[in-house]
Amino acid sequence: MAADTPLDSDSLSGAPREAASSVLALYSSADTVAMQAALQQAHMAWAAGEVPVGAVVVDETGKLIGSGFNRTITDHDPTCHAEIVALRQAAGTAGNYRLPMASVFVTLEPCVMCLGAMLHARIGRVVYGASDPKTGACGSVLSLHTNTKLNHHTMVSGGLLADECGDLLRQFFRERRAKAKRPL
Ligand SMILES: [Zn+2]
Repeated sequence: MAADTPLDSDSLSGAPREAASSVLALYSSADTVAMQAALQQAHMAWAAGEVPVGAVVVDETGKLIGSGFNRTITDHDPTCHAEIVALRQAAGTAGNYRLPMASVFVTLEPCVMCLGAMLHARIGRVVYGASDPKTGACGSVLSLHTNTKLNHHTMVSGGLLADECGDLLRQFFRERRAKAKRPL
């Protein structure tokens, strides 16, 4: 997501409530644990004054090989979305820029840049939490993940802990708006 583009918090969508049980059926308990780790990263982003998005990368055994949170403001770097930070760490851990057996768990639907990086890394699986109707490239704005002209084999799915992931962002923007309205 674009950290410098404040999301309209009300437009952040999680999985439809009535579909929550079927969404959960898609995922294992290990998936949920991985997304909770991504949520912890998102909390760290908030603590650092960044838009709270977090990501982790796990290998085929479920071992965490990379983690990161949004740090575009801190690093003065528009590419430092959570997924990119986590991918860099995972590739360094693996000693390989290709990670075909790895899975990425991220709290918000990836943008074009991040999904593009994950396709370049040949990531096997991407799971995201909340949908991002502003910059999501996995079905919300674009459907890069289903473009058959792109040479990739990455499975993409969303909705895991969508309410928790989306609520964190909604709270963050609510607080930021309230601060902005406070008289000097
Ligand atoms: Zn991104």
